[in-house]
Amino acid sequence: MDSEPHSSRPFVVKQQIETLAVHAGRFVDPATGALVAPIQLSTTFEREPGGGYPHGFSYSRDNNPNRSALEACLAALEGGSAALAFASGLAVPTAILQGLRPGDHIVAPKDVYHGFRSVVREVFANWQLETSYVDMSKARNLSAALRPNTRLIWVETPSNPLLKITDLAEVARIARSAGVPTVCDGTFGTPALQRPLDHGIDMVAHSTTKYIGGHSDLLGGVLIAREENPLFASARRSQKLGGAVPSPFDCWLTLRSIETLPLRVRAQSASAMEVAGFLHGHEAIEEVFYPGLPHHPGHSVAARQMSQFGGVVSVKVKGAAVEAMAVAAAVRLFTRATSLGGTHSLIEHRASMEGPNTATPQNLLRLSIGLENTVDLIADLDQALAGSVR
Ligand SMILES: *Cc1c(COP(=O)(O)O)cnc(C)c1O
Repeated sequence: MDSEPHSSRPFVVKQQIETLAVHAGRFVDPATGALVAPIQLSTTFEREPGGGYPHGFSYSRDNNPNRSALEACLAALEGGSAALAFASGLAVPTAILQGLRPGDHIVAPKDVYHGFRSVVREVFANWQLETSYVDMSKARNLSAALRPNTRLIWVETPSNPLLKITDLAEVARIARSAGVPTVCDGTFGTPALQRPLDHGIDMVAHSTTKYIGGHSDLLGGVLIAREENPLFASARRSQKLGGAVPSPFDCWLTLRSIETLPLRVRAQSASAMEVAGFLHGHEAIEEVFYPGLPHHPGHSVAARQMSQFGGVVSVKVKGAAVEAMAVAAAVRLFTRATSLGGTHSLIEHRASMEGPNTATPQNLLRLSIGLENTVDLIADLDQALAGSVR
């Protein structure tokens, strides 16, 4: 029974994501009363006669008002205690891996974002990291891959581009009993659909270039921690000392975009679900990868840990690379381009983008569903696929 008198309750409400997206990290500018914070371009900030920094800012690589506002907002959206904004999505794993020692072992998904593998293989070539790339959609593969020197478990769900689903609570359980820190790349889900920290994951990474930026006009990344930990502290050093920081303008644009993040992602997910349904069973399509479809092997886990299934749909076109390229060549409304999460719908032949080391099927097309009307998107795919039906 609640015996607390109402008047003594602190006015702290657990706000919903739409509210946090508009209000977290924002304040009325004390100098002017402006509702929207100005873009603070100054790289340097005045010291007091005594040597202190009265506003907490000294030099823009260390921190900047637009960056700290963005970090506060993203930490709130994920339910974390702190966030670090970076100049790109890939700067995040780069900063995390810099916290490891030569000979440390990491486990990552077999179909992890291809740039992650390139960072490990090329940027960390002299680091002698041991790596295991496993199919994390089956938790027993993760348990089997652990070694005494495992220092990081990197998860990506839904994965790019195969939309595989990893059970976050299961990964967190296995990792905790082995004492290994976990990071989830949540770029495809965004905090609007999935909050990995709620499932026991230690840190969340995003390429803010995608849904969080949302308009295909900025590059960024973020790392959010449930609580302070050694890898997060080391990533902070890489950010501030290594200088992989986003510009004040990019921080400002990202924060502005976040106001509409929940609405955009919900509309894109609903549209993607319809597009996936249309493609599933189309005579020119061999297979549809979308966790919202009931036959998807990760559907029940996705339904448990996500509120919707996101805006990316991948398909295998019947035939080989040529047939897939022909479909991509025939679209009129979709744009043939890499990346995802923006307002324009995009279509991409993924294997040729990833290059010779790719594990992506040659007949795979990845679709990023934008904010156009679903009827128009389906009509475009219908006419593009008509050419490949024989
Ligand atoms: C695009 C992407 C990245 C890399 O982000 P950049 O901003 O391009 O550096 C990382 N992970 C996933 C899942 C992505 O889609």
